[in-house]
Amino acid sequence: MAKVAVFSLASDYGCQVQITNADDKLLEVLGQFDLAYWQLASSGHVPEEYDVAVIEGAVTTDEHVELLKRVRATAGTVIVIGACAVTGGIPALATSGVLEDRFDVVYGEGSALAFGGRISPLPVDAIIDVDYRVPGCPIEPAEFVAVLQRALMAVSDHIPREPMCAACKIEENVCFYESGTVCMGLITRTGCGAKCVSLGRPCTGCRGIAADANLVAARAIAVSHGIAAEKFDSALSLYNSAKGVVR
Ligand code: SF4
Ligand code: SF4
Repeated sequence: MAKVAVFSLASDYGCQVQITNADDKLLEVLGQFDLAYWQLASSGHVPEEYDVAVIEGAVTTDEHVELLKRVRATAGTVIVIGACAVTGGIPALATSGVLEDRFDVVYGEGSALAFGGRISPLPVDAIIDVDYRVPGCPIEPAEFVAVLQRALMAVSDHIPREPMCAACKIEENVCFYESGTVCMGLITRTGCGAKCVSLGRPCTGCRGIAADANLVAARAIAVSHGIAAEKFDSALSLYNSAKGVVR
């Protein structure tokens, strides 16, 4: 039976809480794996061996980099969950400007000590190869279970490539751009069913930039609807500021 270990980097543990919310769906895969380590749910230690590593959070310290290298050397399969791990997410907002200056503002005289070992926030795949991705902030429990199932069955990753506007049309939502409101659905990876827009809020891009997105065209559409390119870029940076993520 596959041994699964769950690791945390810099995050608010929201995606791990979503795993606990997947309880009914987890029944579909229970019996197929042995949960060998999960700090949120048990007090055990990291085992010497495990087959599948589930990683939440952005890489923000030298310690994280070392942990990831050890994890990759141990686990045959690595799954990253949540915007922080997939794109750098909210922690990567700190990459705008000089990181040391931000520490000075928060920690004042203790800044040098607090900064020790910190690196500019990065997604996990900036450090190690990743096999499966579950995007979102937080993740959808059902999507996590489906991806875990793929991993346990050694079926390749199937992260959606397309932007979300088509899903939004299926939901019969009125496009936010009609009222001059910036929405990241134009370039955001589909798969959530345009959840926020269906609830009356513009998409903030938590699932990351779709592989098939046309960022230049999306920016031009925003401008043609009276939205400054800077405003579009600012909205884009909320979940996609990590180096190399925003094209
Ligand atoms: S831009 Fe936003 S509101 Fe418009 S269709 Fe796309 S997801 Fe829907
Ligand atoms: S609509 Fe956008 S912000 Fe909302 S869950 Fe989907 S990807 Fe995330």
